[in-house]
Amino acid sequence: MLEKNALYVVATPIGNLSDISLRALDILAKVDVVAAEHTQNSGYLLAAHAIRTKLISLHQHNEMAVAGKILALLASGKSVALVTDAGTPGISDPGAILVKHIRAHGYPVIPIPGANAAVCALSVAGIVNPHFLFYGFLPTKSGLRKRALSALKSHPYTLVFYEAPHRIVASVADMIDIFGSQREITVARELTKLFETIHTGTLEATLVWVQADADQQKGEFVLLVSGAETADKPEISDQARHTLQCLLAELPLKQAVKLTAEITHENKNALYQLALQLKTTHTR
Ligand code: SAM
Repeated sequence: MLEKNALYVVATPIGNLSDISLRALDILAKVDVVAAEHTQNSGYLLAAHAIRTKLISLHQHNEMAVAGKILALLASGKSVALVTDAGTPGISDPGAILVKHIRAHGYPVIPIPGANAAVCALSVAGIVNPHFLFYGFLPTKSGLRKRALSALKSHPYTLVFYEAPHRIVASVADMIDIFGSQREITVARELTKLFETIHTGTLEATLVWVQADADQQKGEFVLLVSGAETADKPEISDQARHTLQCLLAELPLKQAVKLTAEITHENKNALYQLALQLKTTHTR
């Protein structure tokens, strides 16, 4: 059922056109107006689902002005949906200014949940740490980017970034500069699309992998970087790490861990966790 005088914030696909909910399609077909970041892009989506609702443009440069117009539409009894080019509005996308304005005037703002690139990447990364910090886009200039990364350096949660294809190499290189080479990164590229790739490895190994293949520098990216080691996590010496790596290449995981613990006298649980990390350095 459609509420009158309401703004619906509607998530749309991040690549695969089928990733849209039945409720989203129903709302987009029934509202009076759809406000879209790019009316042409959203026009294709609506047309693919035989929806002919009127589109108006709302983007980061006109958001406040259009918010006034949408408020007037709601005041006159109309209902409006907000969509962006991809994913959930307001997440590294326009929407927050409009939503704030409409809520401040007491009209209902109703979420229609769906795709989001960050959550999509997290869902397939197999990261055991339950906590993450969504950062979105880092600054585009290296100096500012390094400053932003320095501020995140001691953060213990998985760090979630969006990145553009032409900055992927420079950003991972800056991460190595600031975080060191051994943190784990998952690169989630072109999610839900033809060339979907999910690669996990150390920052160092991943930089080499991305640099070696120009195709891995194309498309859209989510980067998930492991957080800082916390004090209660025992550190593992370089020598123990090396021993474990060598044994893992030859033996089953459990045996490699057991032998490394015997040889190096390091904590067996910590070695087991490291072995799991080392084993998950892979690509799909
Ligand atoms: N609102 C969107 C969401 O909910 O995820 C994000 C919009 S933001 C302008 C676009 C960025 O999201 C891209 O540059 C990329 O970093 C990430 N992204 C969007 N679609 C993606 C996909 N299919 N695969 C990987 N990353 C994606």
